[in-house]
Parts: sequence; structure tokens; C-alpha cells
Amino acid sequence: MAAPAPSELIPSPQFPVPGVYVHVPFCSSICNYCNFNRGLFDEGLKDRFVEAVLREIRDFAPRPPPLPPDTLYFGGGTPSLLTPAEISSVIDASRGSLGLTADAEITLEANPETVTAATLEQFRAAGVNRLSFGVQTFRDEELKRLGRLHSAERAVQAVESARAAGFDNVSIDLMMWLPEQDVAQWLASVDAAIRVNADHLSLYILEVYPHLPLKQEIDRHGWAQVPDDAAADMYELAMAMLDKAGYEQYEISNVCRIGRASRHNVKYWTDGDWLGFGPGAHSTWGGVRWRNIASTEEYTSRIVSGESAMVDRRVLSNDERLGDALFTGLRLSCGVDADLLSMRYGIDVWARYGERLGPFLDAGLLWRQDTRLRLTRPGMLLANEVMSVFV
Ligand code: SF4
Repeated sequence: MAAPAPSELIPSPQFPVPGVYVHVPFCSSICNYCNFNRGLFDEGLKDRFVEAVLREIRDFAPRPPPLPPDTLYFGGGTPSLLTPAEISSVIDASRGSLGLTADAEITLEANPETVTAATLEQFRAAGVNRLSFGVQTFRDEELKRLGRLHSAERAVQAVESARAAGFDNVSIDLMMWLPEQDVAQWLASVDAAIRVNADHLSLYILEVYPHLPLKQEIDRHGWAQVPDDAAADMYELAMAMLDKAGYEQYEISNVCRIGRASRHNVKYWTDGDWLGFGPGAHSTWGGVRWRNIASTEEYTSRIVSGESAMVDRRVLSNDERLGDALFTGLRLSCGVDADLLSMRYGIDVWARYGERLGPFLDAGLLWRQDTRLRLTRPGMLLANEVMSVFV
């Protein structure tokens, strides 16, 4: 498929400051619960991938975003398997071809076992200024059940090395509702993250997919997950603990120290725009949505031979854009300004959704004040039910 002309990509005059996402699809081993677009690290394929990503970014240069991007996010996969020099070349290409700002937030997702004090210093020198460590739990037996390669001790060391390398913005991912994990054990991991003084925490609920190996392991070993009401306790008690420790919950699954919210991820929740590069990366820009082909082999061969990797390009209707803006915006603790969105898309939110939102307002799951609408904390636990109104 030929790359679309700029006019095809820009059907709307409305452009917020965009972010840039780069998907790095390699991992040292595959965790038994993982449903992301990733594959085992292969040196040759990795080299071709880096060449392709640089070319994909540079080929965007004739149609740079009207406003320069102010965030760059390396997600995966395990982006910390790239060398600091490779990360540096992608940052340089984003500055040169997309106009990435000098003070951009540049996040690297990293697995603790892949970094050393030296590589962290080199990533920092390359321009990375935010790290997001995939820790998942600070308990070794839980890490083993998930097929993770690091230990709790290694995770703590990684955070300490990051501090020593000059990172003042370190995030940790944790997962709750793990097999055989009880509420106290989960809270011990949250406490460990507080003790290493993470600037930001993302707390996810483990999803056990029937087609992935974890499901078979759970069945084979007879591992149990705590009942639903205890899982709800896990969420609420962790949030209460983090409140007490001075963190601010700014999104259903995310808390931070003051000023340390993820600028990049906030774009996803505030009706923002982003450009995605790499296999399987999604983009939303000026009311158009597309994604790249997921296969790393096919992505690299298409880009290197001068073809577009884009598939599923779609111009969104105002109806869809409004639904998406409400669906994602309600994830934020501050919720959405419904009147602003009504004006932006020319559709009255209350007329369109008011009747179906009523029962959630009455039940105390949603809260409305003037033009703002937001989920309460009990509402965050039942967010899927509330959000189904917009799907
Ligand atoms: S490290 Fe992350 S992306 Fe890689 S297999 Fe594990 S969960 Fe998936």
C-alpha cells in the first residue's frame, strides 16, 4: 500500500499537541500471561527493526505534525533490550523529523533484569528522562508463577541504579489478583513500591486469557485467585494506602507524586493525538485512526522496501470521537467536561447519553457537578459497566 497523501491524513483542523509512541516488540522470554504484540529477541531482526523504525519516522518528515510533539514513549515488548545508541538514534530522528521538543518527556519501558548502572546512565545521557519498570510484584514466588526473569531484589536494585543515574521520574507497574496471592501479599508489594519511593505507579488487575499458558498452569497446579470481593478490596485498600503515602490517584489505574503524571499517557485520556511507529503501533491524529501491521517481519520488510506499514485506516465520525473521548476521559479522576465535548463534536452529551447515565449517577458510581462528569472510586471498580454506555 502506498503511503497516504498528507491531505488524507489531515481531515480535521483541530490538532492538540501530539505524542509519539514507538513499539519495540522484543522480549528475552515470553511471560505466561502476556497478550501484547511481542516476540523473542533476535539480533538480526532487531537490527532490521531499528533501521525500519528510523526510516518510518524520517519518511514522516514531509508532513510533520502542525504542533511539535512533546512526549516520546518507548513501549513494548521490552524497549530496554535496545542499546542506548539505538534509543538515542530514534530520539534524534524524532527531533529531526517530527520536531520533538527539547523538553519532551521521553519514557523508556524497562524490565529490571535488562538494565545495569552503566546502561541506565547511557539511556539518561541519550535523553530518556522517565523510566517505567515492569516489576509486577515484589514477591519472588509470584514473579516465578508469572514466568518473569527478575527477582524482587533485582527490581529494587534497578530503581536504585536509576536514581544514581539521575532519573527523577521513575514509574513501577504492579499487578494484582495474581494466582495464589492474598490481599496482604498484594499490599506488601504496594508497600515495597512506596518504600523504593516510586514517583508513579500503575496498578493493573491480571487478566487470565484462556488461550495463554498461564491458564493451563493455573489448572495444572490448582492455583486459586481470591474471590471478586477480595479483589475489590485489593484495589480499594491499595488506593487508600497510596493516598496515605502522599500519592495522588489521577486515573483508574495510575497514581503519582505531584507533577509526575505521565504526560504521554494523559494524551490517551484527554482526547489527544499521537503518532505510533513500529509493528502494531496505533495512531490517532486529527480524527483519523490507523495501525501498523503487527508482524515485525512484515513491518520491517514493508518499510525497508518503501511501502507503508499502515493497515485499517479509518476516518472517525464525530459520534465515535465523542464516545471515545467520554470512554477514555472518564478514566481520569478529574473526569470530563461534558459541555466542552458537546461543543467540540456538535452533539449534546446529556441528550445523547443522559438517560443511560442516570442509573449510574443515582447509584453513586458517577458524579456530576456543573459541566463535569466523573467516576467515583466505587464507580472506578465498575468502570466497564459504566463505560459500556459509550461503546
Ligand atoms: S516482558 Fe512484558 S511484553 Fe514481554 S512477554 Fe513479558 S509481559 Fe509480555
